[in-house]
Amino acid sequence: MAWFTRQKSGVEDGGEAERRVRTEGLWLKCESCRQIIWKKALDENFQVCPKCEHHFRIDARDRLSLLFDDGKYEELHRGLTSTDPLGFVDSKKYSERLDGMQKATRLSDALISGTGTLGGRPVNICAMELKFIGGSMGAVVGEKITRAIERSAESRAPLIIVSASGGARMQEGAVSLMQLAKISAALMRLDEARVPYLSVLTDPTTGGVTASFAMLGDLNIAEPGALIGFAGPRVIEQTIRQKLPAGFQTSEFLLEHGFLDAVVKRSELKGYLARALSFFCDQAG
Ligand SMILES: [Zn+2]
Repeated sequence: MAWFTRQKSGVEDGGEAERRVRTEGLWLKCESCRQIIWKKALDENFQVCPKCEHHFRIDARDRLSLLFDDGKYEELHRGLTSTDPLGFVDSKKYSERLDGMQKATRLSDALISGTGTLGGRPVNICAMELKFIGGSMGAVVGEKITRAIERSAESRAPLIIVSASGGARMQEGAVSLMQLAKISAALMRLDEARVPYLSVLTDPTTGGVTASFAMLGDLNIAEPGALIGFAGPRVIEQTIRQKLPAGFQTSEFLLEHGFLDAVVKRSELKGYLARALSFFCDQAG
């Protein structure tokens, strides 16, 4: 499906440009327990509230730094951008929306694909970026994930995908929906090659992403308190005409009902993934 994407020369080499300016001050209010917390304490605690363990959202770059050994990795296919195959216009032109997003996030699309080591083991990790059009999956996200899967299959390095997404990208219409099938088929080939794939679901993981690769891991692991679902609760209530139970579509609810293998705190996530990969890769035979 390469004709839906192209290599753009203008966006790469942000270099070290990702130095965020802290303008919000030293303190902030936790969106869950409403207590005032010291920002430094939050930074030192993997962006998890030290008082109530609420997991704040983190961006794709921070996620990859957290998982790869020493925070170091090589980014793959970074200049890949959408060609706007439908010439889509909503409140503004999709091409303009993409341009604005690329400038604001210094990313070419809603996913970073990286290669490096985790616990000393070579791995490929893809992390979705929610700030880029709601982490939506279009042709670029689909292509980058598929290439990461193929790379994993060839090199026999396990694959980890960290999801954070509102679902398929509406501005790419059916092209975005095709990514579900394309990625799922590639994952099947990875499975046949017997290379492990671990899926990590973070807040929020919804729509076509939940309906495809996020739920196809050899292990499907979520962070605590994440919203995970296909359709939103309002749509479901209106469709089935029933009130939904409390905690519906949270990680813990899904674990209890057998849709997830584990809910793992962010501070323990890397260790958990390393142990899981040892379990899958180091067995005799
Ligand atoms: Zn809190």
